[in-house]
Amino acid sequence: MKKIVILGATGSIGDSTIELVRNFPSQYQIVGITSNTSVDKLFKLQKEFNVPYLHIMDQDAYTSIKNYSSSARVESSMESLLDFIASADYDVIVAAMVGNVGLLPVMEAIKADKIVALANKETLVSGGHLVQDLLKQHPKSSLLPVDSEHSAIYQCLRGESHKELKNIWLTASGGSFREMSLEDMKNISVKDALTHPNWDMGAKITIDSSSMMNKGLEVIEAKWLFDCTMDQIQVVVHPQSIVHSAVEFQDNSFIAQMGHPDMTVPISFALSYPQRHCLNHLEALDLRTLGSLQFHAPDFERFPCLGLAFEAGRIGHSAPTVLNASNEIAVKLLLQEKIQFLQIPQLIKNALSKFEVISFPNLEQILKIDLETRHYILDNYQDILS
Ligand code: MG
Repeated sequence: MKKIVILGATGSIGDSTIELVRNFPSQYQIVGITSNTSVDKLFKLQKEFNVPYLHIMDQDAYTSIKNYSSSARVESSMESLLDFIASADYDVIVAAMVGNVGLLPVMEAIKADKIVALANKETLVSGGHLVQDLLKQHPKSSLLPVDSEHSAIYQCLRGESHKELKNIWLTASGGSFREMSLEDMKNISVKDALTHPNWDMGAKITIDSSSMMNKGLEVIEAKWLFDCTMDQIQVVVHPQSIVHSAVEFQDNSFIAQMGHPDMTVPISFALSYPQRHCLNHLEALDLRTLGSLQFHAPDFERFPCLGLAFEAGRIGHSAPTVLNASNEIAVKLLLQEKIQFLQIPQLIKNALSKFEVISFPNLEQILKIDLETRHYILDNYQDILS
């Protein structure tokens, strides 16, 4: 039986992880769950699985715990979460919280020699070199990707030699506005941007998918996970989301990983690794009835966020931290209906030109740049856009 901790247990990845635990009750025991604000849901899960440890990041949400009676230990601050991650008895930690807030918990879990099932892409975007350095110092720890594309690439590379890797082909659904003209994109509402054709996810990642920043973050995530250059990563739009990504080798062979789009599969792969669960309860892919699959190049003009991510990834060092932090705030502003959809890349572009690149930033510098970028966008977004 594997003991697991789920960070971001009340989000969509959390839901799928919990569902998997329900289907394999003899194989998993949940020993800790966290949420930013969803106190009610957290206590329901605590009851169902008798979880001994709960963590609620949001201070206001934390004050409402007095309304619940439970035998679990319930904490709030980041310090207490890091203490728990460092000292608790568990095998795998699922990092499924949203945003750069995942960086410190993931680093702490690696220091504790744990397996990290990583769904939080912002961690690698913002602090990829720090995480990779830590992994080298802690060979007993490992990082298993939960993002469907990266899980696909990981599976395609199993047993292959790194030097034979030519290109990684990251597939993208293209989001809700795949076929919309640039003119029409000017009138996109928050509600439009919050619907996704193939996946049901939280607000932040859905907006990122609509702007294709999600793919941009995934490009940088792939660079760190698979130790390749930005030039070795190709993005291809594949509206059906059946091919979850592919790898091209030096002999021009391609290996792709396929299946119906369902996050349960990559989560299951990460949790059960190196074995595979039997997931007969999910819809299986029937190639005979699939029909045609389409692939085409992404449009960098209509989706400037993708180009900005490639640019920040090529610059490296502190640039991806600025990219990520400015995007997180721009998405927040969009959700509050303070900016327009097409203004997201304008804010990110401005932030990237505003902040000087710091070479090989340490953790303290990363956290400082992250905070400065957030404040800069929040305080100046109206001036930048005027
Ligand atoms: Mg993905």
